Amino acid sequence: MKEPATLSDMPRLELATIPTPLQEARNFSMVLGGPRIFIKRDDLTGVAFGGNKSRKLEYLLADAINQNADTVITAGAVQSNHCLQTAASAARSGLACHLVLGGHPPARPEGNYLIDRLLGATIHFTERHLREQTMDEVSRKLQAEGARPYVIPVGGSNVVGAMGYVKAAFELVSQADEIDVNFDHMIFATSSGGTQAGLSVGLHMAGYRGELTGVSIDQVPDEDSDEKFKEFVLEIVKDLARLLDVDKPFVIGDLSIDYGYLGAGYGVMGDLERRAIRLLAQTEGVLVGPVYTSRALGCLIDKIEKGLIGKNETVLFWHTGDNNVLHAYVDSLFQE
Ligand SMILES: *Cc1c(COP(=O)(O)O)cnc(C)c1O
Repeated sequence: MKEPATLSDMPRLELATIPTPLQEARNFSMVLGGPRIFIKRDDLTGVAFGGNKSRKLEYLLADAINQNADTVITAGAVQSNHCLQTAASAARSGLACHLVLGGHPPARPEGNYLIDRLLGATIHFTERHLREQTMDEVSRKLQAEGARPYVIPVGGSNVVGAMGYVKAAFELVSQADEIDVNFDHMIFATSSGGTQAGLSVGLHMAGYRGELTGVSIDQVPDEDSDEKFKEFVLEIVKDLARLLDVDKPFVIGDLSIDYGYLGAGYGVMGDLERRAIRLLAQTEGVLVGPVYTSRALGCLIDKIEKGLIGKNETVLFWHTGDNNVLHAYVDSLFQE
């Protein structure tokens, strides 16, 4: 499955180690008495500890450099994978990096916050709801000092960043074709929406006709509708379609998001996550992370156990990373 020229012509830096492996999880599938399960290893993208943001940053940093920026600014949670991968990608690309983290400095640097510091990022703490505003303030201050900052939105989720997952869709479909496998379902963790937008457009372009479900990690449906987040994702989808000359008129109904696994909230590990981490680790030697990928994998396990995904089907679990922060969650991992 070759990429169309509209995609391969988009400016991109080579940062990630791609294609990432596509692996079958036979032992895991056997224990669940379930379908064939494959894992797309985007935890192995190779920028610092890897993860899905690396693919977005290939396009975002190319755009920053084309706009003559010398500094990037982005925001996230204290243990943000997006911030970590931005800091690492910026270092490799010769750009300075400022991170706006929502929350307070941990008593002792650990997890991604520790690595952000090793990577030389300048860190600004703020309240979670003031992240955007703080990014603007940092940007203005840097400009006044003569720097040329480029602001990357939370999660790198805009049309430029999402292009990374359009490309990833073609990569996956080629790998599946090579081993003659067709997926009925694909499951992954969704949060800021860029991965879902890119995959939705890319998989359509590459001819995939199975289901694609984003498991919400932190997006909560509105009281009256669950469409606000979908509308945000749909805007990116439409922008991508325009840029890539895709003539399908995408609608809200093309997006599937499962809000049923929010547990006690963002970053709060429950039994679902603890069990998913141990089950995959002990059957396949593959680790999922405490916040995103264990929740999405927990959803997959639950759907198999409830018979919502059938024995004779084939499933893809898109591993988006965050396993490198397991060490920062020791207490939750051993809680009963
Ligand atoms: C950011 C992130 C996601 C969600 O991707 P979005 O494009 O923000 O929806 C999933 N998994 C991990 C590990 C992430 O860091």
